[in-house]
Amino acid sequence: MRELSVATIATHLEILINQASFNLGERELCALREAQARESSASGRAILSELLQNADIARLEGRPLCQDTGVALVFLDIGQDVHIVGGDLQPAIYRAVRNAYQDNYLRKSMVEHPLARKNTGDNNPPIIHIRIVPGEQVRMRFAAKGGGCENMSRIGMLTPSAGREGVMDFIVRTVCEAGGNPCPPVVVGVGLGGNFEKSAMLAKEALMRPLGDHAEREDDAEMERELLARINAEGHGPMGLGGTTTALAVHVISHPCHIASLPVAVNIDCHSHRHAEVIL
Ligand code: SF4
Repeated sequence: MRELSVATIATHLEILINQASFNLGERELCALREAQARESSASGRAILSELLQNADIARLEGRPLCQDTGVALVFLDIGQDVHIVGGDLQPAIYRAVRNAYQDNYLRKSMVEHPLARKNTGDNNPPIIHIRIVPGEQVRMRFAAKGGGCENMSRIGMLTPSAGREGVMDFIVRTVCEAGGNPCPPVVVGVGLGGNFEKSAMLAKEALMRPLGDHAEREDDAEMERELLARINAEGHGPMGLGGTTTALAVHVISHPCHIASLPVAVNIDCHSHRHAEVIL
């Protein structure tokens, strides 16, 4: 069995947080450039140009891509032949989040109770998702998830009679009702099927897919293309101020579900689509 220390995991998590917070990914930059080239509205083109400029400044000057540096999301796919040694995993992850957010002056956005609302001061706790997978590697992914776009996410517990059109309508309506709140152009993660909590997890997982990669199932991939076209035809545009670029991509993940259910979750991410990953 392979041994992997919590210190190694923590060190790499700090690196991922820094990478994601200051560097927009190549695919995201490409998507913004392509959107700028085909955007029909002048104000939309100007906004997309400013977003690209913002990404340049963040990378060159080491400034966060957005003032909302997000909830720290950590996805760990742990190979079942890996033995994690050198201490407890959770405190090591917390330590990495504290160090990265404090050392890099990233905004601390977490409050310790949803109603008391006292800031924890170090952006802890992160949201951690762990899966046990075959093999002897650990895949660690990090995302910084802004509050504005997360607030616009929705779950619909539809019934099977809603069918494909009902699902499509729910997704398009969710993005349209969000307007400018999630800082469009957005990335739309859709979890289709499962149950209440599974659909939400799938929607989040869908956001972690490399931007623009399509679903494995052809029917889901077809739905992604149709949804993107429908959402962009609604005309909300960059920052919700009009235009043809409301979304950069729609990612769907489907899962089997109960005969009486048709859950659909929509998790929206903003133009500041910050994520990074490493295989250890
Ligand atoms: S939604 Fe995204 S871009 Fe807008 S403020 Fe939040 S993190 Fe920043």
